[in-house]
Amino acid sequence: MKKLIAVILVAMLALAGLSAMAEVGIPVLEAGENGTLVLATNANFPPYEFYDDETSLPTGIDIEIAKAICQKIGYGLEVVDIDFGSIIPGLVSNNYDFAAAGMTVTEERKQSVDFTDTYAIGIQAVIVPGDTEAADIYALLEAKGGHLVIGVQESTTGDIYISDEFETAGTADVQRFKNGADAVLALTSGQVDCVVIDNEPAKAFVAKNEGLKLLNSAYTEEEYAMAFPKGSEYYEAFNTALNELMEDGTLKGIVDQFIPAEN
Ligand code: GLN
Repeated sequence: MKKLIAVILVAMLALAGLSAMAEVGIPVLEAGENGTLVLATNANFPPYEFYDDETSLPTGIDIEIAKAICQKIGYGLEVVDIDFGSIIPGLVSNNYDFAAAGMTVTEERKQSVDFTDTYAIGIQAVIVPGDTEAADIYALLEAKGGHLVIGVQESTTGDIYISDEFETAGTADVQRFKNGADAVLALTSGQVDCVVIDNEPAKAFVAKNEGLKLLNSAYTEEEYAMAFPKGSEYYEAFNTALNELMEDGTLKGIVDQFIPAEN
């Protein structure tokens, strides 16, 4: 009996070890002459990263830019889809070659990872029910009697700003979700008063879910960059290629595919 228990224990440990290792990326570009790079993202952040309805593969501005860069420098590409908050720790542990995740450059993150040059900008937006009369989050706070329940994506800049400004002051409970889609679901089911998230995903979520609208927040513009583990051997070639794609118009072409020009 003891032997049986020991065998079962060993088997369980082996399985646990396997599942910790078995983080298989989704191939989106065939291996190149130099091999394949593994990209970490959170693929619930349209139009930067999401699953294509037809192919069921990850796509979006970040994924297509990363593909174009990898193709240029002779690598294939695999995408690993994880919670946003796990991306930087995963880069620090060298589990992934880089991240492309609509990630804002912040001084604090710079302590842990190396950012490429900036390729896009974002600003925080506030998603509210369509019948909301308040013009901004402060008016909403007043309308709700001085206390809000705010949904954010865990570990994002929206989470950081809202926690610092409202949670610390005791004027809001912050509910942290693993991704934007879950936060928006909580809003449509009345679990939160608003969701604070980057403006392009906010627009995409509002377009997909009836009965929601956007308020602009007063936060400053954020710069997006891709992130590498510190000292990565791929960084230089990748960043040079990114700059070339910005200069030759390829990058703008990709952005235009996913964000139709507003007129
Ligand atoms: N730009 C935000 C940040 O860097 C959100 C990114 C995301 O949710 N993918 O924190």
